[in-house]
Amino acid sequence: MENLLAVKEQLISGKVTLVDITDGYLNTINSRNPEINAFVHVDENGARQQAVSIQKKIEDGTAGSLAGTVIGVKQVICEKGIKTTCASRILQNFESVYDATVIRKLKSADALLIGRTNMDEFAMGSSTENSVHGATKNPVNSDYVTGGSSGGSAAVVAADMCDVSLGSDTGGSIRQPASYCGVVGLKPTYSRVSRYGLVAYASSFDCIGPFSKNVTDAALLLKHIAGHDPMDNSSSDKPVEDYISALDRYSETLKVGVPEEYFGDGLDSEIRLMIEDQLKSLEKENVKLVPVKLPHMKYGIATYYILATAEASSNLARFDGIRYGHRADHKKVEEELANERAAIKNTLKGKSVAEIEKAMSSIDSQLIRLYKKSRTEGFGTEVKRRILLGTYVLSAGYYDAYYAKAQKVRRLIKNDFEEAFKSVDVIVSPTAPTTAFKLGENMNDPLQMYLNDVYTISANLAGICGISVPAGTHSNGLPVGIQFMGNAFKETDVLRAAKRIENLHS
Ligand code: GLN
Repeated sequence: MENLLAVKEQLISGKVTLVDITDGYLNTINSRNPEINAFVHVDENGARQQAVSIQKKIEDGTAGSLAGTVIGVKQVICEKGIKTTCASRILQNFESVYDATVIRKLKSADALLIGRTNMDEFAMGSSTENSVHGATKNPVNSDYVTGGSSGGSAAVVAADMCDVSLGSDTGGSIRQPASYCGVVGLKPTYSRVSRYGLVAYASSFDCIGPFSKNVTDAALLLKHIAGHDPMDNSSSDKPVEDYISALDRYSETLKVGVPEEYFGDGLDSEIRLMIEDQLKSLEKENVKLVPVKLPHMKYGIATYYILATAEASSNLARFDGIRYGHRADHKKVEEELANERAAIKNTLKGKSVAEIEKAMSSIDSQLIRLYKKSRTEGFGTEVKRRILLGTYVLSAGYYDAYYAKAQKVRRLIKNDFEEAFKSVDVIVSPTAPTTAFKLGENMNDPLQMYLNDVYTISANLAGICGISVPAGTHSNGLPVGIQFMGNAFKETDVLRAAKRIENLHS
């Protein structure tokens, strides 16, 4: 498959034009998107205008290094003048007033931003079914989910509606949908890419990263979005590496750790065999397999769902209908309060003024009612569940038992990785325990839904990087992904490993 570097050459030589490429994508969007619902906003005219002006720059020799790249962006990343809904009713009409740093970087490199992609509300979910825009369907088989929460971004690439896309990964939301849809998905090291303009879910986990049709394009996109940003004081000032030239370092032996904990119960047996088979083939390609241990991995899901929900409950407090977001009908709230006051007066007829005043002061004020009603109407079920859970684990009396304990376990998980990376370059695992599941199948069973993240979540807890790369097709016809995790700032290693898997299939 042609990568973006090859496309760029064709554009420069005049073999193709960006206007034609863009029209091609718009046609595919028009024919496929109504069914799979992966893009939730496409500005056709705007895309054509961008194509014309970038094409002119290409012809003048003044185009930026991403000229020719057509990209979709997850609905959680702010793009000026465009609605950033986070797939939530509460932000349904929120138009961003500034560009996220990643958007600014893409625009200044002349990438063409074609549209906005669907997701689970506030990036909470594993299927892209929790969305005010409706579920996204898997382009490979539309009875199945895309995975989530960046399912729209995975699907737009898988369905060839653009070249690449951006997603966000807090517990696996890039890698798991990449695996379910048969594309490449890269979660960079925490702090490698600026979070400025990414609507926060769990700030100590959130990462922006690329989806692509091949490993080279993921490396190219990462190179453009990575780097220190004065607008995000958690972003790293480590220099950005040359991810592309690293891909061809075949002469160096790559040491791949194989953790038994990631190949145990719950893993689909065919996925296990496929991965084992490919690892054997890699051994002929200067890859050395080394058994490693990650004993605390089994606490990953519990730890994540305590810490991420705690952070979410705090981050989502700002959506109250006053500062941001959907505001419930003010008049109705006023009426409700007046009725309740009248009812109190009525029941306490003949009682003292002090008693009546006491009863009046025990009911919610108009402001509190407006907050409650706005949030009740604005948030979906999964988001509410997480706000409740997060508030609970942070509350006095439970804080030590849950939140503080989970922080300690997070450290143990990180220590496991540090130990393992003393002897290996990358760690291999399946990306998810199964292939994509049917739409609706897990919607009433949150725990089952959470289990999809069992192999991806630890990388976010440890802040390290990970990639999912297509490993082939299951006998059920659905894509399977392999994951490589690398130590912090070792994106070159996971990209190198992924490239070797890609070579096996090309
Ligand atoms: N599926 C996980 C969750 O629901 C991860 C989400 C994510 O990475 N944004 O929280």
